[in-house]
Amino acid sequence: MGEAETPQLRAVSEAGYKLTGPRKRIWQAMRAAHEPLTAQEIAARAATSVASTYRVLALLVEIGVVGETPDPNALGEAEGRAADGHDPRGKRYALCSASGHHHHFVCRACHSALEVRSEALERAFAEMERESGHHIERHDVVLCGVCADCLAQGVIPAMATVTTMTEARA
Ligand SMILES: [Zn+2]
Ligand SMILES: [Zn+2]
Ligand SMILES: [Zn+2]
Repeated sequence: MGEAETPQLRAVSEAGYKLTGPRKRIWQAMRAAHEPLTAQEIAARAATSVASTYRVLALLVEIGVVGETPDPNALGEAEGRAADGHDPRGKRYALCSASGHHHHFVCRACHSALEVRSEALERAFAEMERESGHHIERHDVVLCGVCADCLAQGVIPAMATVTTMTEARA
């Protein structure tokens, strides 16, 4: 199937894991999907239990081959519970096509998760680390809004419970 050639699968095996059984079915379900899925949707398509789906997804997110993004329609409710990082409700998962460090932009109109990189953003974290003296081991940045394609088609869904970045952080 040529699967061994993809950089994502190489990353999985370099991390010391094999894609066997449920892992492989979960991987295949995500490959076949055209938009980010919830863990429940992945479990149903992969015929795996929801519990083991969460375990496999956590592993793939940790390795960096799967992106975890909030459900753009569930923003707000998910926020309070996300602090410990263990309440995956409202999260969606997609295979990353980019290898290496990147972030995701989630479109609340078409639900696609687009991969974005910003050197300026990464530099800002490095600078923050230097200035604060904190050692940053990882960071999560998810951008939400309406993607360029949807904007071009005039698809702009009404804002539901979404607050702006500055309001949410204030
Ligand atoms: Zn990604
Ligand atoms: Zn879109
Ligand atoms: Zn980053």
